[in-house]
Amino acid sequence: MNKPDSRRPVAAIIAVGTELTEGIRDDTNGAEVARLLVFAGFVPKRHEALPDDRAILAARIAELTASHDLVIVTGGLGPTHDDLTREAAADALGLSLVRDPRLEARLRPVRSRHRLEQAREQVMRQADVLQGATVLTPSSGTAPGQLISAGIGHLVLLPGPPHEMRPLLAEALETLAPGRRDTPWILGCVGISESDAQVIAERTLDQHADIRLAMLARPALVDIVLIDEGAGESGLDVATREIADALGQRCYATDGATLAEVVLREARRRNLTVAVAESCTGGMVAEELTSVSGSSDVFLGGVVAYSNRLKERLLGVDGEVLDSFGAVSQEVAQMMAEGLQTSTGADVAISVTGIAGPGGATPAKPIGTVWFAAIASETRRAIRHEFPGDRAGVRARATATALDLLRESVLSPRESFR
Ligand code: AMP
Ligand code: MG
Repeated sequence: MNKPDSRRPVAAIIAVGTELTEGIRDDTNGAEVARLLVFAGFVPKRHEALPDDRAILAARIAELTASHDLVIVTGGLGPTHDDLTREAAADALGLSLVRDPRLEARLRPVRSRHRLEQAREQVMRQADVLQGATVLTPSSGTAPGQLISAGIGHLVLLPGPPHEMRPLLAEALETLAPGRRDTPWILGCVGISESDAQVIAERTLDQHADIRLAMLARPALVDIVLIDEGAGESGLDVATREIADALGQRCYATDGATLAEVVLREARRRNLTVAVAESCTGGMVAEELTSVSGSSDVFLGGVVAYSNRLKERLLGVDGEVLDSFGAVSQEVAQMMAEGLQTSTGADVAISVTGIAGPGGATPAKPIGTVWFAAIASETRRAIRHEFPGDRAGVRARATATALDLLRESVLSPRESFR
């Protein structure tokens, strides 16, 4: 069961940048940091965006470090005039900034890239660190991170660009929560509600008082995260196996793999090739598969046939069938998969056709109606779903469900579906 948070360290996240508070840019760092904090055993209690304003930042850093075991600040560590996180942290903690000679040496080549003396001097501001701070040296980019004792715990400053922030966050967490695994105990689930997944996991965890549960849901996907509260690696391994058994086919991975990665590795293991015909997902299924490096040995390719005309011309869907049943129908979904298999020769071919909205619905086919079909080893399967949500939500759910259908078809190519 979920236990109270009292014994666990609490954390706060500040995302710095006027572009964030003014809504010009999304704060993706905040969510990413929060997720990794959960994995590292912290309880993120606050997550806020603040503008590039030294006084506001200083006041908030002082408040949060007084009441949180860990405060993570991202952004505002660059060289320009609006990068004020360093100075604000110094104000908050009553510390001075000192220029770090090692960082200075690292920045010298960068300095010479600028022609104006003022620009050259600005670059060197990135060598300024809080007195007594541990420097987190960047592997990419120029802004270092910093880690220092503050208030009742620690303060960590990280650069704003996500690809620079990521490795330094990992380094900071390794120092603050050593021995933490990069991939925590996660059970990736698909085609099950968050509440159902939680109830199943909690039933198993009744026998494991020293494991805490966190649920992370995205459209059609749920991650069950197991957090160690004394169970140790072997206890977590046992609980993971037990929960995976209880979830059956709804659990697609226990090693942090994505659904697309699972499809590809299971197909590779069986020497199967796959192809996708997409309408309402507009290539999102192909995008998921091709975002995994090395997918070309399994994934032959796909067809985005959005109009009826292309469904006929590229996938051989019968025009009369389109007219009588409509593009979102079992018949058309099956013909799309058949046409695709014929033209690509893929071992497993699937199709997706649906109504993502907001327009296009009829009483019999409301928004969110999506038909899927799969062909594998002469077996034909078709399923209909009615997804909730807006256009983006329906498309995301359809993408995950199509990948799940691919996975099931690859795992049991000869079995009829449901
Ligand atoms: P900064 O370190 O504040 O100079 O940030 C540099 C760049 O990193 C910004 O212009 C954004 O493009 C990006 N960035 C900063 N903070 C965030 C954030 N919280 N989420 C996503 N991107 C960010
Ligand atoms: Mg900024």
